[in-house]
Amino acid sequence: MGITVRNLNGTSDRDCACGTWIRHWEKFSGTTTGICARSVCLNPATVGAHVKKSTGDDHAHYIVPMCHACNGKRDAIFNLRDGTRLIAANVAETCAKTSKPQATRILEEVLKLNRIP
Ligand SMILES: [Zn+2]
Ligand SMILES: [Zn+2]
Repeated sequence: MGITVRNLNGTSDRDCACGTWIRHWEKFSGTTTGICARSVCLNPATVGAHVKKSTGDDHAHYIVPMCHACNGKRDAIFNLRDGTRLIAANVAETCAKTSKPQATRILEEVLKLNRIP
């Protein structure tokens, strides 16, 4: 039995450094997208959908690859295909961390080291 998620609404306008959310998913899952993450669907995945686990205490937002039709179903509960990788949608935890220019990161390290307690 796979993970059950709720499809989130009105999130398509949110952006990240990866350009698109499907790119974001590919980048952090280390794989390329194939078919839609919804277990009953066999369409090719074309978008990175924002979802939230529908059970348990984990209220974080995640990205999963989905076809356009499934992503368009507002508030729907989907059963994910076994083995689907859920990638954090929180850019502070993912791309914002890695997309900073190296000079900025070095400067931050220096500031951290010299911080007076
Ligand atoms: Zn990203
Ligand atoms: Zn689908």
